[in-house]
Amino acid sequence: MLPLSHRTKIVATLGPASSSPEIIRQLIEAGMTVARLNFSHGSYEDHATTIQRIREASEALDCPVTLLQDLQGPKVRVAQLPDRAGFQGQSAGAISLIQEAPIDLVPQDRADDCPNAIPIDYPFLAEEAELGMRILLDDGQLELEAIAIAPPVVTCKVIRGGLLKSRKGVNFPSLNLRLPSLTEKDRQDLEFGIVQGVDWVALSFVRTAEDIRTLKTFLRDRGAPNLPVIAKIEKPQAIAHLDDLVRECDGLMVARGDLGVEMKPEKVPLLQKKIIRACNQAGIPVITATQMLESMIENSRPTRAEASDVANAIADGTDAVMLSGESAVGKHPVAAVAMMARIASAMEPELEFVNFPPTEFSETNALSEALNVIDKIINLCCIAAFTTTGYTAKLAAAERPGVPVVAFTPEPLTYHRLNLIWGVIPLLIEEPVTSVESLVTAVENILRQRQIARSGDKILILGGSPIQQVRGTNFLKIHTLRDR
Ligand code: PGA
Ligand code: MN
Repeated sequence: MLPLSHRTKIVATLGPASSSPEIIRQLIEAGMTVARLNFSHGSYEDHATTIQRIREASEALDCPVTLLQDLQGPKVRVAQLPDRAGFQGQSAGAISLIQEAPIDLVPQDRADDCPNAIPIDYPFLAEEAELGMRILLDDGQLELEAIAIAPPVVTCKVIRGGLLKSRKGVNFPSLNLRLPSLTEKDRQDLEFGIVQGVDWVALSFVRTAEDIRTLKTFLRDRGAPNLPVIAKIEKPQAIAHLDDLVRECDGLMVARGDLGVEMKPEKVPLLQKKIIRACNQAGIPVITATQMLESMIENSRPTRAEASDVANAIADGTDAVMLSGESAVGKHPVAAVAMMARIASAMEPELEFVNFPPTEFSETNALSEALNVIDKIINLCCIAAFTTTGYTAKLAAAERPGVPVVAFTPEPLTYHRLNLIWGVIPLLIEEPVTSVESLVTAVENILRQRQIARSGDKILILGGSPIQQVRGTNFLKIHTLRDR
């Protein structure tokens, strides 16, 4: 395993710029702990190849990598634009929207009737449109306002113009879209993900906790009831249901790209803090995403504002920071990961996190609460959490202790899943542990071998006894490594 200099986790989206075995290896060495596969793009064949390569590199480097499958969800897009050279001066497969000019939109399935309108893959467009509503295209770069509705056509005025290309995203901030939360494509993608053994799944454009229940029912029906689920918070409806979502989900993502389109950029910074805080309080992981080091798509160094953005998300308490275009299609994917790792290493020693009261009054919660108290008095080297499901390690890390939480698990699944959680170093414990004594010996041996601890160091061991019954955590042991 590689030395861990930073405690914040780094999610890198893999894409054409980062799917070769060599780049994947370098990304892991630079500090990527989570590989995100974006199912808005790419074929199953490509994703399967990438997954295989990640698993091989992870094994070769003896370093866990969490595989995150990101589902597109109910995203509306511009359909394929026809090649209409000569029509209002556009180029092939694109159309230029001119400020103040009128432009028609039409549902894709009626496009044949309206050859001059922009086809949109939302069948209820004209039924649901409201006069004066805002429509944003291409990540908010282009903006329209509906000025006349004559089904199936919605006529708009161009508020912010520019070149519109095929397949770009469309946001209708004021509409509650009549689309299923888990689309047919998502279901197929998820079946593929389950077979491939992804570690986490994220759903885009979540609106309510019911969306997550639908996803969890699907997972149960497909034999993957424990696959943890992340809701991407990018719609006003999700903000309105934030507390319910925190309760229903295993993690959240502050999906700032679409959030800033649906709710305006100036709302994003405070919402980021609010979402992170809600997750910290509940003890579930949170990822801060999108445009963190955007200029590194082109440049080898970030702007100071971007470096500050990463640092501030870490200070807010995020578990993980995420790269999208920077690592998927950018020119410097490895440098972007390395930059995030350096910012995290520079920030973390200076931070003190709020300690929230436990959410439940269980034995595991009680023991986790004690960690920081003990660390203040005797200066620990690390916390060793023995965990089968990962729950104990997650609770320990949620205390944001000053020392690493080394999660010892016999479960390869748990080993890979935990590398999204702030401050956790997942380790596989391969020798059978049958008693607390054999656990202590195994933990000590592994920590020495990995040079995480040496003679004289004190470690705090957290686990459940009897060891072989999965019944939750019930003991805390301070153990001092003696000279051998
Ligand atoms: P996306 O999600 O990159 O899948 O759109 C993240 C975001 O919207 O910020
Ligand atoms: Mn998004």
